[in-house]
Amino acid sequence: MEVRGGSRANGRPGPQIALPSLSVHKVDVLVVGAGLAGLHTAQLLARRNLAVLVVERRRSLSTGIRTTGIFVRRTLDGFDLPEHLLGPGVRDVLVYPPSRRSPIRLTSDRDEYRVADMAAVYEHARRAAESAGARVLLGVRYAGASRGVVRFAGAEPVTARFIVGADGARSRVARDLGLDVNRRFLVGAEIAHPVASGTTAPAFHCVLDPRVAPGYLGWVIDDGRHSHVGVAGYPDAMRAGIRHLLDAFAADAPGRAAPTGPVERRGGPIPVGGVLRRLACPAGLLVGDAAGAVSPLTAGGLDPCLRMSELAAAVAAGYLHTGDQRVLRGYDGATLRSRFRGRLLLRRVLAGIRSPAAAESAVAALRGRAGRALAARVLFNDGSFPDVQRNPVAAAAPASHHEA
Ligand SMILES: Cc1cc2nc3c(=O)[nH]c(=O)nc-3n(C[C@H](O)[C@H](O)[C@H](O)COP(=O)(O)OP(=O)(O)OC[C@H]3O[C@@H](n4cnc5c(N)ncnc54)[C@H](O)[C@@H]3O)c2cc1C
Repeated sequence: MEVRGGSRANGRPGPQIALPSLSVHKVDVLVVGAGLAGLHTAQLLARRNLAVLVVERRRSLSTGIRTTGIFVRRTLDGFDLPEHLLGPGVRDVLVYPPSRRSPIRLTSDRDEYRVADMAAVYEHARRAAESAGARVLLGVRYAGASRGVVRFAGAEPVTARFIVGADGARSRVARDLGLDVNRRFLVGAEIAHPVASGTTAPAFHCVLDPRVAPGYLGWVIDDGRHSHVGVAGYPDAMRAGIRHLLDAFAADAPGRAAPTGPVERRGGPIPVGGVLRRLACPAGLLVGDAAGAVSPLTAGGLDPCLRMSELAAAVAAGYLHTGDQRVLRGYDGATLRSRFRGRLLLRRVLAGIRSPAAAESAVAALRGRAGRALAARVLFNDGSFPDVQRNPVAAAAPASHHEA
């Protein structure tokens, strides 16, 4: 039986994907992971007339969410996220020392952050990928690849010309393809719940306290509709266990409002070693957390995963349409890393704050004019992640039709 991989929003037929029974036998690109990086890359590749299959081990995109879903202004300006998926804008940030006394308040004249309904964002991204012609299979776990043949738990093997590893911080695809892997992690956990609307003013509370969040922050972000309360830190310094530390923090976290509905728990590893150097080879490439595309300082990964997916898709399509391996050089982590020196340095500073006294001093240093300017630069910056320049070879490659 020959079935179409998907119909396009523009009415033109997508590339053909053979589907005998439920299995897909041959694709141009297999994308492993239906997070934001995988779904966005799949959409862009399918738009370039490639036969794309996405596999995701979760059975539903609304379970097992691993992010708070804070989108920064730069992402909101640069990407088309539908308004109804986003909560109200947040302009106020309060930075607290371990004592929680006299926080530093920074107020922007623009909406800096908006917390998204992530289940709906993933569903939106899935529909966009499918409208472009990609096929998305849930409940299918990638189990390994050898010479273009990919094995799964939950589906028949397929042959793929190219594999995109969008399988998160501990990417198995990266290992199988012999690409670089993340080695430095924070671990984060949070609780999220609705709050009584109109009872709180939107604000982002950040607590520098190594007792609960060694090497990072405790946070409460409340946009007047939902509250997210979380901690993240280096796992080896969280001996009490992250769940215990989160519960201790949440018990009296500043800005915390009472839940008015179900309380959801989220969490996962956050790679903070910076973009990996070796991201691509003729068998595939990495995007999102799998590529280490997270700001080492702020631990924000949503903007980087969208931004780098654009370059990844251009390079992968350029390579697949021409067969020219030189195109892959355009997806080079070493070039991106060089623009991360400042962030990696500040990550080391944050990692070095290991006692409450050091954290009190660090917050005190931010109270002065220079300190406030630095904090505003980090928190309200237009450049949370360096712009990725599109490789001229990839950009020039034809977006011609290709049949799988
Ligand atoms: C607690 C927490 C809060 C965060 N908050 C923010 C925030 O507010 N703002 C921000 O910018 N960043 C935040 N981050 C970071 C950000 O969420 C990530 O960088 C981003 O979501 C990465 O997207 P991704 O698509 O690369 O990975 P993921 O969203 O992790 O997607 C990877 C997908 O691959 C699937 N997968 C893995 N292995 C397999 C396999 N073998 N077979 C099939 N599927 C597989 C997984 O199930 C998963 O769905 C947060 C991180 C954490 C842990």
